[in-house]
This record gives sequence, structure tokens and C-alpha cells, in this order.
Amino acid sequence: MIAAEEARSFVLAPLRPLAPLECALAETIDLVAACTVYATEPAPSFTNSAMDGFAVRGSDATTGPTRLRIVDSVFAGESSAVVVGVGEATRIMTGAPLPPGADTVCPREDAVVDEDGHFVTLQRAVVSGDCVRQVGEDLSVGQTLVSPGDVVDPALLGALAAQGVASLLVHPVPRVGVLSTGNELVEGAGRLGPGQIRDSNRPTLLAALRQSGFAAIDLGTVRDSRDDLRTAFEHARTTCDAVISTGGVSAGDADFVKVVLAELFLERARSMQVAIRPGKPFTFAYDESTNTPFFGLAGNPVSTLVGFELFVRPALRHLAGHRDLDRPILSMVLDDDLDRRPDGKLHLVHGVCRIGDDGLVHVERLARRGSHLLFAVAGANCLIVAPDGAGYRAGETVRALLLDDRGLNVVA
Ligand code: AMP
Ligand code: MG
Repeated sequence: MIAAEEARSFVLAPLRPLAPLECALAETIDLVAACTVYATEPAPSFTNSAMDGFAVRGSDATTGPTRLRIVDSVFAGESSAVVVGVGEATRIMTGAPLPPGADTVCPREDAVVDEDGHFVTLQRAVVSGDCVRQVGEDLSVGQTLVSPGDVVDPALLGALAAQGVASLLVHPVPRVGVLSTGNELVEGAGRLGPGQIRDSNRPTLLAALRQSGFAAIDLGTVRDSRDDLRTAFEHARTTCDAVISTGGVSAGDADFVKVVLAELFLERARSMQVAIRPGKPFTFAYDESTNTPFFGLAGNPVSTLVGFELFVRPALRHLAGHRDLDRPILSMVLDDDLDRRPDGKLHLVHGVCRIGDDGLVHVERLARRGSHLLFAVAGANCLIVAPDGAGYRAGETVRALLLDDRGLNVVA
């Protein structure tokens, strides 16, 4: 058996991020930049008002109240060439450029306009520069907006759009093929024959891929036949950026996935017994010519999910160019005992975590546990990492991968 860390390193070592592509800006959300972008305009690009009110000279109203003559008005999208002189003010709307002479804005709610509309009284003193957005306050020309490895979030995307950027060089979303193997697998809602089951791994993995932002490609089911598997993998290597198969990697007489991957990729394929539970058997192969990783996950449904989290997802994030490969790892307070026996393995246990009224994250392991019990882990939002040993008692702290943030928005 090898440690999970070693298996992970073996997987990550050969992988290179996917070759970057120029992509329309609107399509780049959550993608990873492969370029540097500098600001070509200051932001804001002109000094403008932060409030609806009156543009004045700050030195005119160092004590209140102050009565000023209104000389013009200016709306967003316009500009005023009328100089605001001593004792004068211009009506101004939010976003409108400051007129010449003015350096300060008094908000409308602090001002009273005479009935004839020609004079305004500022009720309070102003401080020079109040309610004014200075040119270049957010970005100056030449400032770095984007560096390679940055993830595009809505604010960055908007800031780029505001600079007039229309497209960005990014690492594309990995296209990940999923196939299930096993003679017992059947399609459709028809009556099951003896020993037959419906495929759950493929829909589970396709969904997990989409949830993590990858493009999922359904490659169907393949029988436990060396020729069929070889054909399926040969096809997948040319159509996908990564391939996940389930089943056929343990010690059974029909476990041909590991055999075929070894034949196809020789020393680039490795069948591992990873010291984890569930998900011990795991085969990884790497097609150097196409930079395509092949993940042969164990067939049991919960093992499949654990293998996805430990080995597949970090690798796919690496292909996508991410610097952060892993789920958040949080310390959580155990609400019940977590029993386990020493067996030389790292145990990965699905749990439900929530915020306790003490403000800490608490976790409850799911009652039923078994690598074949898929429905038992529905609703789990974390994966408790329990190193080899005798387990933990209620009240002790454990570490867990946060799978999603359901339930963390309420204090229970
Ligand atoms: P294997 O890894 O092929 O030995 O399969 C281990 C267990 O997982 C067996 O009970 C299989 O029937 C089950 N299994 C394999 N593939 C799937 C699948 N796609 N969906 C549901 N169960 C599966
Ligand atoms: Mg099988």
C-alpha cells in the first residue's frame, strides 16, 4: 500500500495546464488567466461626484451655513464648462464630472435651495474633497489588473470590461470523459435481469464534474472486455482532456481496466493500492502525447466519489490552471464518536457540518457507512479525514474537506 499523498503526487507530477485560448470576456468567469493585463486608462477616468448635490469650492464653506449662487447644473454623461467661482455652486448628479473650479461636493440632503432656485445654502461646513471620486483612485495607468494564475471573478471581469477589454487569454475548461465498466451494468428503466444493476457511477461523476465547473462528456458503459476497453480508451484519448473510468481496477478475474491501461501507456500507467478507505484500488495512466490523464477509479459508488475528491478533482483543477487545487480544509468539532480501528489506512468519512451556537463548525458523521451505500452519503457536505488510529471521541476536533457550503449559512 502507498500513502494517499504519494498517489496524489504521482498523478499531479506529469500534468501540464491546458494550452490557453483567447476567450470572450463574458465567458471567462471562474476561468484561470494565462496572461498579464495592464490598465490602459485610469479608473475612475475623470474626477466625478459621489453624490447628488452641489459642486463647490471647499474653501468657501469651511464653516456653515454658507449661501452660494447656483451657476449651472451637470448630469451624469454630460460635462459643464462653467467655472465654479468663489461664492458659487453647480448642481451635480452622481457620476457627473466635477466642473472647473470645484473640488468638493455637498450632498443635496445637506443643502437648502431658495424658492427662486438661484441660491443654495449649505447647512454644514464641508471638507475639501468630500464626496468626490478622484481620477485613478481605483486603478492607475500601467497598474497590473491580471496576472497569470488569477481566477476571473465578477468584480475582475467587470473591471476589465470597464477598461474596454473584450477577450482574455485563459486556460480552457477541461473536457472530461466518463465511462463505466462492468458486464453487470444495464441502461434504462426496464426490468433488471439476475445480477444486473443500473449504472450510478457515471451519472454521479458527470454531475460532480459539472458541479466543479468542468465540461462532462458521457462516454457510456463498456463491457469487461479487453478489446472493448482498449477501443474506448483509444477513442477517449483523442476526444477528451481527461478520462475517468470506474470499475475493473481491483483483483477480480474480469478487472481489465488496469491491464488495458498498462498495455496502452506502459511505464506511464500505475496500478496502486492506496492506504485509504474507501477507494483503495486506483489506477492512473498518463498519455504524454496528448497530456491526457486516465483515472481508473474503484467501482463501488462511494469509493468512486472519494477517488474523485482525492485524486481527480485536484488534477483537473491543475489542468484548468488553478493554483489552489484543493477543497477548503476546516477544523470541526465532532458531535459524536467517530470509531475506527487501526488498519494502516486513512479513512474518509462523509459528514454533515454546520455552525454551532458556539460559533464553531460542528460535524456529524453519517449514520450508515459502506462503500456501496450511495444514498447514505446524499446530503453530506464534508469529508472527514481520519488518520490511522483508534478514532475520535465526541468533542474532539477533526479535519474535514468542505464539499459544499450547504447549511453553513445558519447558526443551529
Ligand atoms: P469493480 O470495481 O468493477 O470490482 O466493482 C466493484 C463494485 O462496484 C461491484 O459491486 C460493482 O457492481 C459496483 N459497480 C461497478 N461499477 C458500477 C457502476 N457504474 N454503478 C454502480 N455500481 C457499480
Ligand atoms: Mg467490475
